[in-house]
Amino acid sequence: RLEGVFAKLKSRGKLSESDVDSALREVRRGLLEADVDYKVVKTLVEAIKTRAVGKDVLESITPGQQVTAIVYEELSELMGTEPAPLVISPRPPSVYLMVGLQGGGKTTTTVKIAKKLSSGHKPLVVACDLRRPAAVEQLRILAEQSKIGFFGPAAGESDVLSVVRGAVRFASERLHDVILLDTAGRLHADEELMEELAAMKRQLPPTEVLLVVDAMTGQEAVKVASAFHEKLSLTGVVLSKLDGDARGGAALAIRQVTGVPVKLAGVGEGTDALEVFDSRRMAQRIMGMGDVMGLAEKIREMADSGGAEKIAESLKQKKFTLEDLLLQFEQIEKMGPLDKVMEMIPGFSRMKGMGSDDLDPKRMKQSKAVIQSMTREERRNPAVIKGSRRRRIAQGSGTSVQMVNQLLAQYEQMRKLWKQFGKQGDKGFRLPKGL
Ligand code: GDP
Ligand code: MG
Repeated sequence: RLEGVFAKLKSRGKLSESDVDSALREVRRGLLEADVDYKVVKTLVEAIKTRAVGKDVLESITPGQQVTAIVYEELSELMGTEPAPLVISPRPPSVYLMVGLQGGGKTTTTVKIAKKLSSGHKPLVVACDLRRPAAVEQLRILAEQSKIGFFGPAAGESDVLSVVRGAVRFASERLHDVILLDTAGRLHADEELMEELAAMKRQLPPTEVLLVVDAMTGQEAVKVASAFHEKLSLTGVVLSKLDGDARGGAALAIRQVTGVPVKLAGVGEGTDALEVFDSRRMAQRIMGMGDVMGLAEKIREMADSGGAEKIAESLKQKKFTLEDLLLQFEQIEKMGPLDKVMEMIPGFSRMKGMGSDDLDPKRMKQSKAVIQSMTREERRNPAVIKGSRRRRIAQGSGTSVQMVNQLLAQYEQMRKLWKQFGKQGDKGFRLPKGL
């Protein structure tokens, strides 16, 4: 009946190497499935291991959950927890050079960014894809629909640098303070494409060189980012099509491999579907493990509350008092309904339904009230709680003598198990098999 509670007591002391290893096995597989480059996974797993082994195990959290939270923090940090906003030049105009392969989402993203900026700026989008008349037309129509200024090549124009010059002149006449250059893409990052872009870059120079890559292309997106970064020194990446089912491991690898921040995320075909890139949300998505973000938040709160330390302190002396039990109840309550917590971690769902009676919120409240009605001495030395004291405690807590007896029996059982765990030494306490 107490299994649910015991499951939470499972591992105490420090996170052991084997706790961490088994949790990381799952993490490694998940990351590879999410298209994270294997070298990146390797470095990451090592970093996580260093960070996790020997860490104090927090109350009410399984080692697996705790490692999961560390992975999540580490992933978020790798992608940059600070937002990387688009740079606006102090001396207008700001020029954004939009680059990427064909079909990656450049044209759409150009308009999306312009639209976002149009609340405080007067952006101008410029069609620099002279090879495909349809590309110019696509940008013109999108700009018109979004009421954004547009500049395109004159009929028969074949020199992209002359279009850029024309656009800059046009912008200064009409007081456009941000110029977005929608460039031509290729199926692959070839020399000719790179040379054209490099020439545009030399002519300007741009405030931002933004690569738009399709998140659905996985590992390929990382190669593309490296190639473009090498030739053009990117200042930011826009990951498009994140509304699809790509796990988005590319975001992590791109940042790792190039050091360039992912600044924005495209989340749909519409011109409003653009978001500031959120590394925490991305980490959760890459891990594909339910609400890891919520779990990490809870762990942080619990670590802050200090309850865990108090328990750890009395653990050192290998005693388990009613005060510990009270803290235990409080910690469980703080985590919210246990079912909810378990749901956050699909891998741990098998623990669901264990000892649910004892984790019933109503019952837990009564148990807490019973302990709270005891004196300090009684809590620390329950042996003194005889008949008359039991009646007093029952009255004080608004429960019954039967309830008090049950709680004391529950405590006694836990205390015994406690001693067993203690015998297993410093490696962390383990539940005996079958419990
Ligand atoms: P370009 O060749 O790089 O200029 O790419 P386009 O801007 O023309 O986009 C290619 C296709 O991808 C178009 O059908 C877009 O509607 C679509 N697209 C672009 N960004 C997104 C996005 O964030 N989500 C989805 N679902 N589709 C997108
Ligand atoms: Mg285009």
